[in-house]
Amino acid sequence: MRIRIAHCGVSAKIRNPKSAIRNWNDMHLWTCGSCGKCYPEDPALWKCPCGGPFHMNFEPARLQPRRLPGRAADQWRYREVLPIHNWHERVSLGEGLTPLVGVIHKKIPFLAKLDYLMPSGSFKDRGASLLMSFLASRGVRGVVEDSSGNAGAAIACYSARARISATIFVPAQASPAKVRAITAFGARVIKVKGSREDVTAGARSASVRDCYASHVWNPYFVHGTKTCAYEIVEQLGWNAPDWVLVPSGSGTMLLGLHLGFHEMRGQGLIETLPRLVASQARNCNPLERFVAGKKFRSSKPTLAEGAAVARPPRVAEMARALSESRGRVYSAPEEKLLPATETCWRYGLYVEPTSALGLTALEDLAQEESLDGRKVVVIFTGSGLKFSG
Ligand SMILES: [Zn+2]
Repeated sequence: MRIRIAHCGVSAKIRNPKSAIRNWNDMHLWTCGSCGKCYPEDPALWKCPCGGPFHMNFEPARLQPRRLPGRAADQWRYREVLPIHNWHERVSLGEGLTPLVGVIHKKIPFLAKLDYLMPSGSFKDRGASLLMSFLASRGVRGVVEDSSGNAGAAIACYSARARISATIFVPAQASPAKVRAITAFGARVIKVKGSREDVTAGARSASVRDCYASHVWNPYFVHGTKTCAYEIVEQLGWNAPDWVLVPSGSGTMLLGLHLGFHEMRGQGLIETLPRLVASQARNCNPLERFVAGKKFRSSKPTLAEGAAVARPPRVAEMARALSESRGRVYSAPEEKLLPATETCWRYGLYVEPTSALGLTALEDLAQEESLDGRKVVVIFTGSGLKFSG
């Protein structure tokens, strides 16, 4: 079945036409970030024919903070700003509303956002809940995904919740604990030797049969991760922090934070955008190189495997998020990662080494900026329970 959207002048193939679209008003348009063409959303679409990534054309309804206190303590309390119309049929495990707790590191006070306290152990559950809600509502019965671990575990977890079969392509060297979690959720795991790009290519070739539920490419995912921004502002009494620091690989949390803060400023819930700081491992720092105008290079192995994406498809958007928020990007040398991880553990934060990138970025930021009296939030993204180092 093909449908045509009059004001876009394009048409797109819709699979499973009988299965799901009960109301045409439920559909969003996706616009290519490279060529500007727009398409009706479709589970079978994952990128524009020109190669560009999609954005969702979505204007959130007004969020009224006074309506929130009686709602469940999860990310769906912000349902007005989520692009899922039939939210009562959501695929959810109560993810979100993670703690925001005070920590002092080397005399620098900051707020730790404990986003590793999630059903599958990482912030990726925010996006997986939105993405699987969309796919389930469209009648999808099988998905494939490629992941270094956390996104694969999240998609496997929420596929299990939705009773959708999942096949996850992982690098051959992926953490055994993460692979074990993916398998435990009932997903099929396929290990791929070679680069991270080879893993992605494997998933794409399999997506001819099943839907490619990509946490990087599908525009629903970032509308889940943006709820972290809403939570931080609500937890601060509807005030924006000054700085937010986050480990960044493919950028799904960085872009979600930027989207969330941007929407809140548009609705008058906050006045200024917090300044975003992306943190990468020096062994794999494509965003830092992109911002500095340098070419990508092949990455070296790093303990921060969750942020080891050599060529992030949305790197230009990530750079724009930093520039619009007057943010920064830092990279940490490999020898700092394990000590920083152990420091997190001593603070009672049982995270994986990728999460420790937030702490190394905090030290770098404090060298350049006075943080006295500033509200600084560091996002801790993945649980140490899946770390097998
Ligand atoms: Zn395009």
